[in-house]
Amino acid sequence: MTDTILVINAGSSSIKFYLYDIGTGGDLAARMGGQVEGIGTLRPRLRARDAQGNIMAERDIAPGHAADVPNAQDVVGTWLSGHLNGMPAAVGHRVVHGGPDLDAPVLVDDQTLEQLAALSPLAPLHQPNNLAAIRVIRERRPAIPQVACFDTAFHRSHGPLADRYALPERLYQQGVRRYGFHGLSYEYIAQRLRRALPEIAGGKVVAAHLGNGVSACAMVDGKSVDSTMGFSALEGLPMGTRPGRLDAGIVLWMMQQGMAHDDIAHLLYHDCGLKGLSGLGNDMRELQASDTPGARLALDYFAWRVAEGIAGLGCAMNGMDALVFTAGIGENAPAMRQAIADRLAWLGVRLDNERNARHGPRISADDSQIGVYVVRTNEELVIAQHTLNLVRAR
Ligand code: ADP
Repeated sequence: MTDTILVINAGSSSIKFYLYDIGTGGDLAARMGGQVEGIGTLRPRLRARDAQGNIMAERDIAPGHAADVPNAQDVVGTWLSGHLNGMPAAVGHRVVHGGPDLDAPVLVDDQTLEQLAALSPLAPLHQPNNLAAIRVIRERRPAIPQVACFDTAFHRSHGPLADRYALPERLYQQGVRRYGFHGLSYEYIAQRLRRALPEIAGGKVVAAHLGNGVSACAMVDGKSVDSTMGFSALEGLPMGTRPGRLDAGIVLWMMQQGMAHDDIAHLLYHDCGLKGLSGLGNDMRELQASDTPGARLALDYFAWRVAEGIAGLGCAMNGMDALVFTAGIGENAPAMRQAIADRLAWLGVRLDNERNARHGPRISADDSQIGVYVVRTNEELVIAQHTLNLVRAR
């Protein structure tokens, strides 16, 4: 066995890759990470940095060499083979959808690939790209074991009620269920709490993943019992470019106005959320630095509806012992954490200014009814761990 695990996160416009060294005790240490971005655009770029942050690659790619995900995966493979002695022991992939049944990562074979491809209608913008990267590696390097890790798997511990919409049974049987996403991030948080904050890990915890994608998860004893995201990654809290909660009547109205399916999908995935409200963009830093009314509106809306979603998850657990902020905004934006906490003051949430400014780990005041924490997420490490465990168990 060689001594590295490669992790791939393939999206429609970028492929992110991370390489981990396997230590003698089975521990994993990040060696490098990078991405091909701008896939399908006129200016795709390759960037990579080592674990200390030193630049290993930063260059344009000829557009024809990164026209789609398979092309871009080849660029990653070629670049990596120039920087690795031998092949990785295995490749772990972030795959958005594991459907109603897959509650753990799987080793990929022809049958699982088919099973996962059949789930593409449930995540048409993500699943095909995730699987395209797996297929390219299977073709080029058939000997390397590959593992699929699902954003939905961590939520398969939901009870039957949490998976429901108030829709007729036949739609549930057809797969219209509340799957939940960001599960790899929540799995990492649950793991991290057990190690670093055991006093809250066994309790009733809401973890709020506030990045470009935004959701929150109710966890009891480290197991997901509910999520603000449901059938697709559109539901729930407002996001960088997605609206979150939305009256289904709005989609009916758009159709009545003659908007085509693809136009509606583009609007909902790319032009709403912070970007749509502010008219400026989806970058939290930019909005916080701006004094336009649009930026203010976006920030106020975000704080209100995120707080509302967090409070709502208390119903899934009949209470809340702790609130954990994570991902780009959750980890780095004290003013937004404060604005969300202000909307939760009625629940007895109080932040400590200094702790919040220092990014925690504990940011709540001593008299807060609910402990509030900041924990850095690491989805890639969870994928690498699962991948190593599965290939070792083989
Ligand atoms: P993704 O979901 O793409 O992984 P991230 O978790 O990286 O996204 O989160 C991206 C978001 O985090 C962006 O809105 C970005 O503006 C925000 N962010 C990152 N750093 C900061 C910071 N220092 N202050 C405020 N917001 C930040």
